[in-house]
This record gives sequence, C-alpha cells and structure tokens, in this order.
Amino acid sequence: MPDLIGAGVIRHRRSCGPEPPAGPPCGPWRNRAAEKYREILEKRSPEEMRTLAQVKRLLERYQGDCEFRAKLTHDLDNLEGVARPYGIDIDPGQALPLFSPDHQRFGSAEGEDRWPLAKLWDDYLRDLQKICEISQEAGGCAEANPRFHGWRQRQMQRCASELGPVARHITHPVLAFELSAGCSVGCWFCGVSAERFEGNFLYTPENARLWHGMLKEAADLFGPAVQQGFCYWATDPSDNPDYPKFLEDYYRVTGNLPQTTTAAPLKDLAWTRWIMRLFDKYRCVPNRFSILTLRILNQVHATFTPVELMGVELVLHNREALQSKATAGRARERAGRPTQPRHDCSDAAQTEYSTIACVSGFLVNTVRRTVQLIAPTRSSDRWPLGYRIFGERHFATPREFRAALEDLIAVHMPENLTGSEMIGFRDDLLYQRSPGGFELRSSNWRFNFDGTGAGLIGELIHQGGRTVGEIEAEVARAGGNIFVAADTLQKIFDRGLLSDDRGLERTELAQPWNDFVSIAAAAK
Ligand code: SF4
Repeated sequence: MPDLIGAGVIRHRRSCGPEPPAGPPCGPWRNRAAEKYREILEKRSPEEMRTLAQVKRLLERYQGDCEFRAKLTHDLDNLEGVARPYGIDIDPGQALPLFSPDHQRFGSAEGEDRWPLAKLWDDYLRDLQKICEISQEAGGCAEANPRFHGWRQRQMQRCASELGPVARHITHPVLAFELSAGCSVGCWFCGVSAERFEGNFLYTPENARLWHGMLKEAADLFGPAVQQGFCYWATDPSDNPDYPKFLEDYYRVTGNLPQTTTAAPLKDLAWTRWIMRLFDKYRCVPNRFSILTLRILNQVHATFTPVELMGVELVLHNREALQSKATAGRARERAGRPTQPRHDCSDAAQTEYSTIACVSGFLVNTVRRTVQLIAPTRSSDRWPLGYRIFGERHFATPREFRAALEDLIAVHMPENLTGSEMIGFRDDLLYQRSPGGFELRSSNWRFNFDGTGAGLIGELIHQGGRTVGEIEAEVARAGGNIFVAADTLQKIFDRGLLSDDRGLERTELAQPWNDFVSIAAAAK
C-alpha cells in the first residue's frame, strides 16, 4: 500500500539472514525502469550525488519541521548558519526557489547562476519523473495478455477522468502481494484501513515453493509487466522478518527488486539495512520510509547519512509536515471530526487526494490465500478504501493461483462490447446533449462526441435500460449506420466511460476542465 506510517520503536531483533549472493541482475526480461534509474545515478558524479543528498535533506527538514521552516524564513541573511546544526553543509541560499515562496522558479540563465542547487535538484527530479512514465508503460502487457491489457488501459482511462491530476502519478502496477495478514502499526489515517496484525507468511520450504510457483505463473501470464508488482498493501513489510527473502526471490524470477515502503524503519535496524543493501545491490527503484512524528524524522536523520538516504524517499506524515493526507480509509472515516491536533505553523496545502491505491490488477494475500481484482477509485461510501473490488477468489497451490487470476480475467474483462450487454455511462460523469452529438464531463475532463447518430446514441445510453444490440437497432431504425454506431459505442467503451460499477458518487464539477477530448463518430 503506497502510504505507510508507523512507530519507530525497537521491539526485538531478528536474524537478517545470509548476505545476498553476488551476481549480475537476472530475470528473463530487460528492466527498462531500473535501467533508467541506474542511468540517472550513473550520469552524475559522486560529488554531484553528495550535493543532491544534502539538498534532499534540506528539503526533508524544511517540509517536515515547522521550526526549521520558520528559522529559514526569518533568517535569510544567515541560511548556512541555520542549516549547519541540522547536519546540512550546503548553502540553502543557492536553493532558494526550492523552498522560498518569495523566489520565483527560475527559468533563465541568470536564475541558474544564482541558484545552482535548485537547478541541480530540478534536473534530478525531472529525470526521476521519467521513471514514473516508464513504469506506467512497463505495466502494459498487450502481447502477453491482451485481454488483461485492454482492461488495465480502460481503468487507466477511467482514473484519468475520474481522479483528475492525481491520476498522473498512479503507475497501475498489475500485482501487489501482501506477505502478512493485517498490520501491527495501526496508523490513525491509514488510507486502506489495515486490519489488526494476525500473522506472517514465513519463508518455510513449503511457502518458498508456493511463492516461486506463484511468481512463475504471474510472470507467464503477464510477461515483463510482472516487474511492476510489489509486496505490501494493507501491511507493513517490517512485520515480516522474512520479507527480504521473498523480495530477493522476486528479483530472481522477474529481474526487478520491488519498492519497499515501511513505516517502521527504526524498529529493527538490521532488517532495514538488509533492505537497503538489496537496494544498493540491484538499484531498481527507490524505497520509502513513512515518518509519523518529528521525533522519528530526527532519529532517521541521525541514523542514516544523507547519502544513505538517497535511495529512500521520506514520506512525511508528521503533524508539522506540509504534506496533506488522502481522504480515504481511516482518514476519511475521521474527516468529519477533529483528528490529530494540527500545529499552528503547519499550512498544509490541501490537494485533492481521494485515494492512495495504485494497483489496477490483483491484490494477493499470501496468508489468507486470497486474490482480489481491484482498481483505484475516488473514495466513497461504496468504496471507502479508494479502490474497487471487482471479485475475489481463493487458492492453495500455484496452479490454483493461476486459475484464480484467469477466472477473474474471464469474468470481468470483456475485450469488446457484446450485443447482449446492458450499458450506461459512469455515474460520476455529467451527460449533456450538444448541437452535434453529446458531451460527457468529469471533474476535469470533457469528452465531445460528434457525428451522424451520436446524439441518439448518447441519449439512449443516458436513458439506460438498453443493451448494445438494442441501441444499435434503434439507431438503424432511425436511419443511422449500424457500423458507425458500433464504432462509436466501442470508442466510448475503450475510453472507460461506461459504468462497470454502479456505486460511484457524483464528483464535484468545481474544477476547470484541463483536458478536452473530441471524438467524432465515423465509419471505419
Ligand atoms: S498499512 Fe499499516 S503502516 Fe501502512 S498506513 Fe496502514 S496502518 Fe499504517
């Protein structure tokens, strides 16, 4: 699950197992996202990386510690003196546009000269953003599994018009594996309302065989898209002492070491350092530590050097931090009443995050032996956790695991519209007739369908209660071209504009449309 937080209490120590075996990256496919990440690291000199690590620490401190923010803002003539006691040995004055509202983003040669650290950091971030795009693409599996691929594409289209700009950051991995049942951390704001911790999937010989078998079946079904999977959801990886062993198996089978997000990076330092060593060895994707309190931020900064944390994004959830929380799960439940007292100097920007879910595919719990087909959605009374559950199956063996995935694909992922299918527009879309056809609006998109028969098709779908065949027949009776009608219906389907769920709440139409799509009805 992408948003984690927890207590940094050392409860017990564990054996962290043998050193990972040396060897070249394995797995049957190229790993384009990891290749890009390594390229980003390698094209920078050690000195540049050291400087970037210092900028990163400056920003973490600025974003997570309001006292530091205040000092920095009020002591502009002594920025180095403010930063030094926090172990930051760069001149923050060279990075002013990164944190000072009074300094506009540079875009000129003059700006680059004045604020070289801001330029260095922006270039680095721009490079990292490309990995997000590559990961989204890499989750596609048009060749290995066209039926699943088409469904995932429709979910991505739906998310783009349902969730707004937030959707750009969702990579839609095809798989998430939970290696525990429940979570011991119990964050008050948990976006997926993790249940109480019940137990682990330990690396016994029997479980290791099951794990290998499941990974191989998933790799066979989805090809390289399986590289985008990861091994937590409503769980914290640090609960499972054997988690790193499963993680390295994942690398061996797929060629990718998945991201680890933990809310308890200080609970067992040997475990955390094991994860960090695996990252150093394979350098596939940065990890994340969720930070619950300022005290934990201080401890994390004291425990790990800035360079060590270059491969770890700190997700700042402490009350002093600028980052706002998604209104899903437990945070949504408590949204109507005071939750945590907010520090008066926290001026959190309220961005519209209504889900933290990212998977368009399968959520697998290895303890309960369940597979659910899920996809992100705006959190609502129907889907309070911010993701839809289309169906669930059970399994006990790798073969049953594969059968469960195949059955969910067969039941929930039609490749095309069939004549007998009853259709309607998504509930979150606003329908309107237009002079040439009809329009559908979401919170930030507008789709315009123009052309012969488009208006009638829109009206019939909007009225509801008709099958695809009945709509085509009515268009034909009205003198329209049945092939044009079929083509228009397929375009509406491919865009993810037809409802495959009747429980969505209508979204506010408050934001300006930032995307406009015009789709003309035309014969092939
Ligand atoms: S899964 Fe656990 S660690 Fe993550 S947010 Fe939920 S309660 Fe916190």
